[in-house]
Amino acid sequence: MKISNNCYGCTACFYSCKFSGIDIKKDNCGFRCADINNNCIKCNKCQSVCNSKLDLNIPIEVYALKNKNKDIRNTSSSGGYIYELSKYVISNGGVVFGACFTGDFKVKHMCIDKVEDIYMMQGSKYTESDLDRTFEMVKDNLEKGIYVLYTGTPCQINGLKKYLKNVNTEHLLTCDNVCHGVVSPLIFEEYKKMLEKEYDSKLKSFTFRYKDGKRTQNVKASFENNKEYIGLCKNDIFYKIFFKNIGYRESCYNCEFSKIKRVSDITVGDFWGIERSISNFDDKYGVSLLLNNTDKAMEIFDKIKDKFDVVKSNIDDCLQPNLISPTPKGYKNEIFWEEFRNNGLEKGVELLDE
Ligand SMILES: Cc1cc2nc3c(=O)[nH]c(=O)nc-3n(C[C@H](O)[C@H](O)[C@H](O)COP(=O)(O)OP(=O)(O)OC[C@H]3O[C@@H](n4cnc5c(N)ncnc54)[C@H](O)[C@@H]3O)c2cc1C
Repeated sequence: MKISNNCYGCTACFYSCKFSGIDIKKDNCGFRCADINNNCIKCNKCQSVCNSKLDLNIPIEVYALKNKNKDIRNTSSSGGYIYELSKYVISNGGVVFGACFTGDFKVKHMCIDKVEDIYMMQGSKYTESDLDRTFEMVKDNLEKGIYVLYTGTPCQINGLKKYLKNVNTEHLLTCDNVCHGVVSPLIFEEYKKMLEKEYDSKLKSFTFRYKDGKRTQNVKASFENNKEYIGLCKNDIFYKIFFKNIGYRESCYNCEFSKIKRVSDITVGDFWGIERSISNFDDKYGVSLLLNNTDKAMEIFDKIKDKFDVVKSNIDDCLQPNLISPTPKGYKNEIFWEEFRNNGLEKGVELLDE
């Protein structure tokens, strides 16, 4: 039985249950959802955690920024803000949680405590990340007085903060992204299989954010046989699905976090429309939008701002659709799923082209 009709898969209810009455199961689109099992004693604790509302923050400062180190910017999605944030936290004895690719290119939240490992978290992965048991790990670290940075989508941060409601979070810093939504892990699995079949080899590396000097959003995959695939965002099959708003988690289409008020200390994104608001700043290798939503965010920005070329901006100039409302569901969503299930990924995508 479901806990919510708009489950974000945030896992907060799972941890709130002392009776192991909740399973996190995959639904028929491959998304992780909370499901009540037979251990449930109907205490409703999970419902109250799920339905509780957190105070949101109005951004205090808005910046456009680019990491001065071109290599770091190149391997990041936009301007490479999260890299320096992570480095600062780790260099001060802290740990960082974020979404990484596993050995078989599934997306999963992990914890790192070494600067050399930050590369694993760099780059947006446009499919749902498995949070695994990271919320528990955050709690353990905070209880030991360790500084924690948790990065993720706004709904994931919302879940984490609900779970930590009775924990001292003085040493917790949260960073979310402006979020268009996550595509089904089932679709991403089929997409990887399709590439591996086409290139007759296993994937060796993969990024959704290969920067070619014109765009910052292309796929680049390399294979064990040293072949390489570069998928321009207008032609690549995964991006066709993503940009047509197909195959997202149902809660993404109803997302309550697609707005200016933010659940996290820090919000990052791609600075959309930068060429209109700040001339000569965009060099086509990525500009981060940074929203400092709390005093904690401003303090840390002050410590690391020298690493960036920075221009102060304002909310009006950085507005983009997902800071206003959720992504609308693509009108071919249902027929895509049907075709995908019956005849596979490529047939499903053919329908989108018609
Ligand atoms: C699913 C998704 C949708 C996005 N939609 C938009 C959008 O509509 N508009 C916009 O301006 N920006 C969007 N972004 C944010 C943008 O792509 C960059 O992540 C952001 O600009 C930060 O870039 P960076 O260069 O500072 O850091 P990067 O190094 O690129 O950031 C990597 C960080 O992103 C987190 N991350 C990556 N993939 C996931 C995932 N699947 N789930 C949770 N966290 C993840 C990691 O934990 C890591 O800390 C989206 C990001 C994601 C993950």
